Amino acid sequence: MQQSDIGLIGLAVMGQNLVLNMADHGFKVSVYNRSASKTDEFMAQRVGDLPIQAAYSLEDLVQQLAAPRKVMLMVKAGQVVDDFIAQLVPLLSQGDVIIDGGNSLYTDTTRRSRALAEQGIHFIGTGVSGGEEGARFGPSIMPGGHEQAWPLVKPIFQAIAAKVGDEACCEWVGPEGAGHYVKMVHNGIEYGDMQLIAEAYQLMRFGLKMSADECQAVFAKWNTGVLDSYLIEITADILKFKDTDGEPLIDKVLDAAGQKGTGKWTGINSLELGVPLTLITESVYARCLSALKSQRVTAQGVLTSQAQAPAVDREAMLQAIHDALYASKIISYTQGYMLMKQAAADYDWPLNYGGIALMWRGGCIIRSRFLGEIKQAYEQNPDLDSLMLTPFFTQALTQSEMNWRQAIVFGVQAGIAMPALSAALAFYDGYRTAKGSANMIQAQRDYFGAHTYERTDRPRGEWHHTDWVGSG
Ligand code: NAP
Repeated sequence: MQQSDIGLIGLAVMGQNLVLNMADHGFKVSVYNRSASKTDEFMAQRVGDLPIQAAYSLEDLVQQLAAPRKVMLMVKAGQVVDDFIAQLVPLLSQGDVIIDGGNSLYTDTTRRSRALAEQGIHFIGTGVSGGEEGARFGPSIMPGGHEQAWPLVKPIFQAIAAKVGDEACCEWVGPEGAGHYVKMVHNGIEYGDMQLIAEAYQLMRFGLKMSADECQAVFAKWNTGVLDSYLIEITADILKFKDTDGEPLIDKVLDAAGQKGTGKWTGINSLELGVPLTLITESVYARCLSALKSQRVTAQGVLTSQAQAPAVDREAMLQAIHDALYASKIISYTQGYMLMKQAAADYDWPLNYGGIALMWRGGCIIRSRFLGEIKQAYEQNPDLDSLMLTPFFTQALTQSEMNWRQAIVFGVQAGIAMPALSAALAFYDGYRTAKGSANMIQAQRDYFGAHTYERTDRPRGEWHHTDWVGSG
């Protein structure tokens, strides 16, 4: 066989499907996996006539590649990536490219990008989203790192990526760890979207006492409007699914959520950069609280409550929950974009915000119609401070506002926890309040710590201290 266009290391779920996707698009691919048995299985069971050849050592893999060589890692994130890079570097030549397509922490990608630049090897760290199905038929791909290497992989990545119309959900993101950073924020937003949907479901199921089938019908309807998205679609599918006894399977799924760390990384980064990413961070904490299952079971018997869902018009409340979900989703994306804007400034990464919305528009878990509006907003003004201040989103928020409040009041009266929906409203109210409550914080800080404060009747930057005890 001729030399391959690209080599891929790591034949687990993501790697296998990406290789098949590349081969479907006419690229010749060489593959390697640590356990040779998986390579054999893959070659025997999935490859057929596709232009894919196996390698059983990294030396073989590199020899099978056309220059400049491109080697993509789809392996477990962390030390494994460093180990493969260390083994590959002596086998590669100046100008060859290593691509890490796993869920690596962006700071690791920045470190690897700098180290490999010194060795003359190009490095791309790319987010790949969409799970197994996306990898096979069109993922969202978010590449960053050494921009000189982008033209070498662009034809492959844009061919295999999801498409929205004619546009590929894959564009250059920025230097160093920018690609993995944007993938991390994507995953954080995914946590937020999932939590918001779970809270809306809880309000319907336990506040409005609706059956799983009734909730299913509502989500299916919502998926035809402004909330049209992959996560709303799969929520309807989940609610439809019956166990062997004919009961909804969702009722037998334990309510303790897992997490792999990307939501947590997003929250930690928001604290480091000082960006109020409240909705995503609350969503991570909600998973932490959900994991305290046995404590929650005990607490339900001890911390009894007289909260009761008030009688409401069901259709009106469903519309209120819909609007609360939509408005909160706008807040979550606003916060996610605020975080990326701060990261771009702090890390000196020129991020293309409209391009990021396009990459998330298709192929990935947070894909939705709504991202089309975000793309337009950033195309019109790439320096936007806040999505909420664009005419489309301002109107959506002001139109949803009273229903959003009503849904939250209903949930509070019913005793239903809504950390994400209510964090979104708190952020909205905080953001649109010209005179907030931090004057009291500043006075307290000055009182006990002489931290000084600025006055509203004096120029900014002029600092005052008062001896608060006794006088005034
Ligand atoms: P994975 O379970 O994360 O990793 C398995 C692969 O890593 C296998 O090829 C395995 O080789 C290799 N590996 C693990 N430890 C190794 C070691 N010590 N030395 C050498 N190789 C080792 O696979 P995945 O789910 O396909 O994900 C691949 C990457 O994509 C990960 O970074 C993941 O976070 C990311 N990702 C996954 C998804 C998803 O939906 N699964 C979505 C987006 C991104 P062996 O076969 O020899 O064990």
